[in-house]
Amino acid sequence: MLTQLASHPNENDIKLALETVILKRPVLEPIVRSFSEILAEKTRIARQLGPVSAPALLNLDRTRLLQGIPLLTETSLDLLREQLDQTFHAMLTVLEKTFSHLANDYSSIENLHNRGQLDLNRLSRAYLDGESSAMRIAATSAQTSEGVLALLLHNTLSIMIQALRPSLQDYTRELQWYKGYCPICGSMPNISYLVRADDLGSEFLKGGGGQKYLHCSLCGHDWRFIRNKCPACDTADKDMQLYFQSQEEHSERVDVCSKCGAYLPCIDLRESTHGLPMDMAAISMVYLDVWATEKGYHPMTRTPWNLTE
Ligand SMILES: [Zn+2]
Ligand SMILES: [Zn+2]
Repeated sequence: MLTQLASHPNENDIKLALETVILKRPVLEPIVRSFSEILAEKTRIARQLGPVSAPALLNLDRTRLLQGIPLLTETSLDLLREQLDQTFHAMLTVLEKTFSHLANDYSSIENLHNRGQLDLNRLSRAYLDGESSAMRIAATSAQTSEGVLALLLHNTLSIMIQALRPSLQDYTRELQWYKGYCPICGSMPNISYLVRADDLGSEFLKGGGGQKYLHCSLCGHDWRFIRNKCPACDTADKDMQLYFQSQEEHSERVDVCSKCGAYLPCIDLRESTHGLPMDMAAISMVYLDVWATEKGYHPMTRTPWNLTE
C-alpha cells in the first residue's frame, strides 16, 4: 500500500510516528522522543496562533518567484512582531523543558530579549538570509552558542511559517520550481522522497522510477524536483550522483553528490509501509546521517538534531 504523505502532521500523527520509530529502532528512542515532543509542541503553538494572513502582514510579490527568488526573501517581518514574540516565548518554554541541560542558555537569551537587547525581527531576518555574523554576535551577547540560538530561531520561524502556510499556498500553486531551495523560505531540504510517477507532469521529472520531492527543513513545504540532480550544487552529471541504501530497509537511502560533497536522506514511499510524517522520517534515518558524515559528506542543511550535538 502506498503511504500517505504526512508533511503537515497533527499531534496524533506525531505520537503514532514516535511509537512506530521506537518499535523499529529502540536505540533511537531518546533523540526521537525529544524531537517528537518539540514537533508536537510546534504544531500546538501554530494552532494556538491561528492562521496568520500573509498578504495582510507581509509585502509579497509572486512575480519574484518566476526569477527564482523565494517568497520570503528580504521581506520585512515588522508587522509580524507580535506573533513572532509570542511564538519565541512559547518555544523558549518548550526547549527549556525538553533540553533541561540548556535551560541556563535559554533563560539568558530570554533575559537579553526582555531587556530589549535582542531584536527578534532582525535576527529572524538574519537567520532566513543565512547571515551568520548577526547570529554569532547575538549568541555571544547571550553567552551561548550559535547552535543553541539557531535551534530556537529555527523552531520559532518554522512555527511562524506554518501559521502563515494556508495563505501562502495561493502563491506557490502550480508553480514550476526546480531549485534545490524552498520557494517559500529559501531553506534547503532535510529529506527527499519518491512517489509513484503516475500523475501528470513533465517526462523529464519522472526519470524511470518515481517522482522526487524535496521537503523543506524549515517550513515543511514540499516541492517537486528533478530526480538526478543535486539540490545543493545543481549538477545533473549522473556520474557524480550516488546513493547508499539501507540493507534492512530498502525504502531508506542517502543520496550523496561527489561534486559538492553534500548528502540528503531519501525515503522511497513506494516501498515504505510506515507512512511517517516527513520530519519524523528524517529523524528516524539519522543513522544514514552518521554514515554519510563518517564517509566525509556534509549535510545539505543544519537540522534540529545536528544543531544541538
Ligand atoms: Zn521552506
Ligand atoms: Zn552537489
